[in-house]
Formats: sequence, C-alpha cells, structure tokens
Amino acid sequence: MELQYFEFLKHLVRFNRRVYLDHNATTPVNGRVRRAMDQALKAHYGNPSAFYGMGRKSAKLLDEARQRVAKAVHADPTEVYFTACATESNNAALKAVASHFHPKKTKIVSTPIEHPSVINTLAYLENQGVIVKYCPVDDQGRVRLSELEKLVDEDTFLVCCMLANNETGVIQDISAITKIAKRHGALVLTDCVQALGKIPIDLHAWGVDYASFSAHKLYGPKGIGALYVKQGSPFTPLLHGGHQESGLRAGTESIHNIVGFGVACEAVEKLLSQGNQISGLKRQLIQRFTEIKPDCVINSPDAEAECLPNTLSITFPGVENAGLMGMLDYRGIAVSAGSACSTGEDTPSHVLKAIGLSDRAARETIRISLGPDTSARDLQYLTRMVQEYLEGRIPFVNMLAPAQLNESFLFAEDTFILDVRPPLNRKEAKGLPNSHEVDPLRVERYLKQLPREKQILVYCPGGGLSVMISYYLQAKGFKRVTNLRGGLDAWRKRHGALYDKYAGQNVTVLQPD
Ligand code: PLP
Repeated sequence: MELQYFEFLKHLVRFNRRVYLDHNATTPVNGRVRRAMDQALKAHYGNPSAFYGMGRKSAKLLDEARQRVAKAVHADPTEVYFTACATESNNAALKAVASHFHPKKTKIVSTPIEHPSVINTLAYLENQGVIVKYCPVDDQGRVRLSELEKLVDEDTFLVCCMLANNETGVIQDISAITKIAKRHGALVLTDCVQALGKIPIDLHAWGVDYASFSAHKLYGPKGIGALYVKQGSPFTPLLHGGHQESGLRAGTESIHNIVGFGVACEAVEKLLSQGNQISGLKRQLIQRFTEIKPDCVINSPDAEAECLPNTLSITFPGVENAGLMGMLDYRGIAVSAGSACSTGEDTPSHVLKAIGLSDRAARETIRISLGPDTSARDLQYLTRMVQEYLEGRIPFVNMLAPAQLNESFLFAEDTFILDVRPPLNRKEAKGLPNSHEVDPLRVERYLKQLPREKQILVYCPGGGLSVMISYYLQAKGFKRVTNLRGGLDAWRKRHGALYDKYAGQNVTVLQPD
C-alpha cells in the first residue's frame, strides 16, 4: 500500500539518481526473460492439459522450463514442480511431511533464522501438536552442528534448514546437516531461495529431500516458485483439484511465469561467474564503511565461502536504521532493514537477534544486497551519502519511539501532529488526538500552513511513509521534524489505553493551498 505513495513521492525528490541495493528482496526482470514471457503470453495461451496442438505446445514449454530449472539445481525434471511462490513451496513441503509422519513421529528440528514462510508454518504445525526444536546458531549465523547432533533423534521426521540466509547471507553446510539428519532417519527440507544464482546448488549430491525456489530472486517474474521433491520422498498436495503437475499441484499452470522462470535459470551459470566481481565490490564497500565509521559491525560472516557474495548486513552503532534508510530513500538509494521494520512493524529482526544482536543493535542495522549491475560508482554514491549523514551534513530526522509518545507529549503546546496516513487507513482507524490531516500525495501544498517554530511530529500507519515525508519537510527548511517510529500501529500496541481514550479527538483536516 505504502509503496504506491513512495512512488508518487518521487516527484518531491530532488535526487533523480536511482541505486537499487535490495536484490535479496527482489530482482529486476531480465530482458531475455521478459521477451520470452511476452511471447508466451501472445502466442502460447493454450491450456497445457488440452490434447490439441495449442495445448501440446504449451505443455512442451512447461517441460522445457522444468528441464531448465532442474538443470540449474542438479535435479531430475520429474522431481521439480511449479508453485505460486517459495512461500507456497515451504508450506507445501512442511505440511505434507508433517501429515505423513505425525503422530507416529513427532519432531521437526529447524533453525531460528529461517524465513517467515518457514517459521510461521512451523508455528502452525506446533499448534497441531508437532514438536518443533530450534537448533542454535553461532554469532556468524552458522548452525552449531554439535547442537544439531544432540537435537535430532529417532523421533525426528524432518530437519529444516535454509541454504543461505536472506538477511546476513550466511551459508549453511547443508551436506553435513543432511548427514546428521539421515543418520537418524529424518528427511531434509532446505530453502534455497536466496542461494540460486549466487552459489552452486547440487541437490542430488547433497541428498536433501525437499528444496524451495522462487523466480523473482533470480531476475525472473514474481508469482512463480518451485518445489523439489526427491524421487520417493513422501508428498501430499497442498492444493487439490485437477491433475496438473503430475497431480502434485492442482490449478492451471501459469505458462508465461513458468517460461520466465526457466529462462531465468538458463542464466544461472553466468550469474555464478559474476560472484567474484560482486564480492570484490562488497569487500571495497566494507573497507569504505570501516573508514567512515570505524565502530561499524559486520554481521555477515567474515569467510567468503560462508557468505553470499552479494549480501552485507552492517550495524552502525548510534544510528537508527529507519532514519538512515529514509535519508537514503530520499536520495534514490534502496536498501533494507532486513527485518519486519521495513514493512512497518516495529519488531527487530529475529535473525539478527538469533546471532546475538540486541534489539537496539538490530534497529541500527541495514542490509545491502548487490546485483550483477551494481557498479563501483553506485557504491561510492551510497558511501558518500552515509558519510555525509554520519558527519551531520545531512541533518538527522528525529525518531520518536512509540514508548516515548505519552500523554504529555500528545498534548504539548509545542508539538504539531501531522497525520500523513493514506485515506483508506484513516477510514479503518482513528488517528492521534490533536492531529492535522493532510493528503500525503500533496504534502507540498500544505507547507505554508505548517508552523516552522514548532516540533512537527509526523506519523503514518507503519512509520515508513512518514520518514520519507519527514525528510522532505526537513529539506524544505523545517528544523524540528520528528518521525513516529513504527507509526500508529506500533504506538497502538504500546499505548492501547491512551488510544482508546483519545483517538480521533480534536482532529483538524487541512485544506491544500
Ligand atoms: N525464503 C527466503 C529465504 C526468502 O528470502 C523469501 C523471500 O523473501 C522466501 C522464502 C519467500 O519467497 P516468495 O516471495 O517467493 O514467497
């Protein structure tokens, strides 16, 4: 929802340069992929289940794509089936294995740094009676194999461990993990979403039973994933219906997306060959950050063989990530917090906490993920902006923690509360008392009505849109701008009673000039 507003707000931005450094979140679609998809959409719309020629042609395209995906991960095409996304792949595998074994066997062993599509599915299974144990990781995020040995036993039916982590880039020794699992008769699911195209994947050599993939992390389209199911491993479909995907995943296949995924996989070798160049850029980036801020902490593993070449998680002590990211966004640079903060929640990253960071350090951490098109100039621009920010040459936007916004702050004479929530959110929830509503898409038309001498407290639902607008106001000469961290949602969680007592009182709707 807020993304649409960010897009619109670009017209406010003086900096036209765009530097995308969030390739672990998603990637741009490669030109060859786009062309192949376009052709599939135009010419190959026959239903692959139909027996006539157009259907058979579509079925052939599916086969070719399946072969390409299988080749990229060293699997047999009969072991690969397409899903809507890796979230579905992880759900399908976990739920299928649990329903096959439970209650004869009761335990799954996983790690505390899995993606939410695993962690939340495990929580669901726990509610169904499955016992889930999390094997600790060390301060570099590596699974402690000696602990894993202790946790996996004859009652364990699955070990679930991602190959590479999306936030820090840590790579697990999946071969060793699989050996431990197999010694106790447990199956293995590995989430390979972040690994594909960044490090070699050899499912057959490792002997894992299930693996999940997603095209949009690989310069392919969104809305298409894959699940590898080793020949003979138990599997029951998540979706029931037609006989598509050999009966394992019902629903008419998304041919253009599958074709796109296949073509994206053809580029895997080339992407892998660019790994050295990308890790070279990352090394330079680390060196530069260390010069700019000697106390910065690198959370990604030191050893190159243990970390995705493109991923850097870095903590800048004393610097809140929300403010830093807002400033960078204002200058056209996209990085991420690598945590739920980016989606508006005020929860520190579970991954960073698992590797030993405090809540505070997690909130001072950003993730930078490079891509094959990232240039040294892009990174110079990034480091220059960070340096100017740290040296106070770009003024900080104050960040107010939800806990600090108490009754006296809410009613302080000196504070002007600016509500920049989108209209839909205003319909759903009353806002802070004493606030002034403006249309977030026309902020520039209210500037004359905002008091320059007062502190302006800007808030939105999740704290993201308001950071952006806070920077805009600051650039327009407002000296005392404060952003509510985590937005109204975080504040309501913290101060439910205050919200119930005062929400919606004394609200002024400003009219644009
Ligand atoms: N697993 C990992 C490690 C991821 O990084 C992601 C996406 O962020 C997913 C799973 C989910 O992928 P999808 O967006 O295809 O559902």
